[in-house]
Amino acid sequence: MLSKKEILDVLKSKDIPKDLLEEAFKVRKFYSGYYVYLRALTEITNICRKSCFYCGIRKENASLKRYYLKFDLINKLFTNIKKLGYSSIALQGGEIFSEKHYFFLYKLIKLAKDKFNYEITISFGELPKDVLEKLYFLGAKRYLLRFEIISPKRYYLFHYKDKFHNYENRIKTLVLLKKIGYQVGTGNLIGLPFTFIKDLYKDILFIKNFKPDMVGIGPYIPQKNTPLFNYLTKGINIFSEKERFLLTLKLIAIFRILLKTSNIVASTALITLGTKFYPLEKVLNLAFKCGANVIMPIFTPSENKRLYSLYEDKYFSEHEKFYFAVKNSDFIPVLDRYGNPLSYYIRNQKSCKL
Ligand code: SAH
Ligand code: SF4
Repeated sequence: MLSKKEILDVLKSKDIPKDLLEEAFKVRKFYSGYYVYLRALTEITNICRKSCFYCGIRKENASLKRYYLKFDLINKLFTNIKKLGYSSIALQGGEIFSEKHYFFLYKLIKLAKDKFNYEITISFGELPKDVLEKLYFLGAKRYLLRFEIISPKRYYLFHYKDKFHNYENRIKTLVLLKKIGYQVGTGNLIGLPFTFIKDLYKDILFIKNFKPDMVGIGPYIPQKNTPLFNYLTKGINIFSEKERFLLTLKLIAIFRILLKTSNIVASTALITLGTKFYPLEKVLNLAFKCGANVIMPIFTPSENKRLYSLYEDKYFSEHEKFYFAVKNSDFIPVLDRYGNPLSYYIRNQKSCKL
């Protein structure tokens, strides 16, 4: 187990400490071997009712063309994804509160489950309780919802304090997702301006205690049409790109050691920053050695993909490129097995396949 001092020393060190990497890799090999589970990601809409200060698809970004994928098109995507051999998919989008949106999501989950028998991850923000319950009942068993930053004071540096942006509701939704039975994925946004190592330490403690089945963390990357970008240009950013990249890798290693069996995603944002310094294979190899065991190639059609612009220069992680990059990074890409985390499997042995 890592002590507070050990974690703070790791976070402050210039590089990834060798003994941290060795320990994380040892734990990873014991529980996941060299396997990396691929989830086919479709970003179904860039419409969002919120205006998080860091996010490029925030409602107040009036210059962005909005899209909402059609059912038939998603059906075709699902068919292609199946042909490639995937057993797990992920669906993501902005937060929308409307009956029409909920019914569309129900229809999609039914399609994904009944026709394709996918294991489904969803990520659509803080939806109402009855909607979350129904989506679970229809077959979506995994939910990704980052808390972003655990200090409430800091949370409101990046969000308005209004009925759409409510810290308590975010945390309450996380707890609710667990109670409903979802495999819950959560995490933080690493290296936001005006944040410090001590904030990261608090985030780590929360995750350690919450014990999520999945960890989804990533570095903050500025986006031109957001209020935070202006602060960046004024030189107020505290962590450099390289620091945010290394901090994310260090957090992955810390979570692998602390949580052992949870799935950890090598996020697109991590790959976006990492490939500014190293080739893709090297970035993946580093992330996997630190303990990441999931990646999510993006299947959103290319014209929509460009509009799902959470941050600048987002890496377009196509299937083939990723599949071979995982192989070339000396790990084993897995499509046909669900890759459910051991912790979740133990809790749900009757209904869950590994
Ligand atoms: N609307 C949903 C899901 C889509 S956003 C939600 O917010 O939960 C998914 C994630 O993108 C967010 O949790 C946030 O952490 C991340 N994100 C948004 N803007 C970002 C940025 N500028 N840099 C890096 N990640 C960002
Ligand atoms: Fe909307 Fe999610 Fe972006 Fe916030 S982070 S503006 S909720 S898409």
